[in-house]
Amino acid sequence: MTDNRFPIVAVLGAGTMGAGIAQVCAQAGSRVVLQDITEEFVQKGLARIRDFLQKGVDKGKVTDAQRHEVLGRITTTTDRLAAGRAAQLVIEAVPEKLELKNGLFRELAAVVSADCVLASNTSSLSLAKVFAGVGGPGRCIGMHFFNPVPLMALLELVRTEATAPATIEAVTAYAAQLGKEPILVKDSPGFASSRLGVCLGLEAIRMVEAGVASAEDIDKAMVLGYGHPMGPLRLTDLVGLDVRLAIADYLRKELDHPGFAAPTLMRTMVAAGKLGKKVGQGFYRW
Ligand code: NAD
Repeated sequence: MTDNRFPIVAVLGAGTMGAGIAQVCAQAGSRVVLQDITEEFVQKGLARIRDFLQKGVDKGKVTDAQRHEVLGRITTTTDRLAAGRAAQLVIEAVPEKLELKNGLFRELAAVVSADCVLASNTSSLSLAKVFAGVGGPGRCIGMHFFNPVPLMALLELVRTEATAPATIEAVTAYAAQLGKEPILVKDSPGFASSRLGVCLGLEAIRMVEAGVASAEDIDKAMVLGYGHPMGPLRLTDLVGLDVRLAIADYLRKELDHPGFAAPTLMRTMVAAGKLGKKVGQGFYRW
């Protein structure tokens, strides 16, 4: 990996996304510093990576030597400034809270090297707001990974007005190294993926509400008729109705588009605790 633009990557937040991002960066040959606020959370993230790799070994997709090598490239810390100081690329995957992300980047910008790329994995927040007041805005970019990170091919790169072409070029090259297919999107509500995906999901819910067809048949229409790997209602169950409702409300406001008005059925299901797969009941019983 002599031409690796990012020999050391810091990943902030060792949750669902952070652990996956750390894993793919280490698989791509980077040394990774995985950070979270407590040792317990860091260890949980590391355990998730170990489990994922072990499953790969069990299925014969990963050799034991590869697993060992990847894990050997990952170190952990609870000190985010130390993690950032060492890195050429910082990828943030902390909870979806604007103040938290913005505060973290403002603080980091002052200690990282001048050409260190600062990336956020936000799935919905305005990158202009996430990076507001952050020194060196040319090095700031959105890197929106998809869950589960090691398996999903898409990487949505989100550029702000200030993102420098050199940053886009470096991160695009790194995406290839990660084995991801990048798309480049302007900083706008819902980017490309959530805007289209959520819109489809909401319309499918409106169709269930209006009795157009059953959830199963609406999903089948998209799977068999349009080649989607999964129908929009099953996907809504997987993501969580509460999560999608929050995104719909946000997009309705930001885009001022009636297509994003959340259907009554969605609100009643969320109020009744039918949140999807995570609770065992949504449009489907799990
Ligand atoms: P998560 O709750 O699984 O993980 C977040 C982690 O961040 C937790 O381990 C938490 O302890 C840690 N954390 C909290 N405050 C921190 C701080 N100040 N510094 C460092 N770590 C801190 O959440 P997630 O699902 O991994 O989501 C993380 C981000 O990725 C969010 O912005 C989310 O919108 C985005 N995202 C999520 C998905 C998804 O499907 N889960 C997909 C794409 C993007």
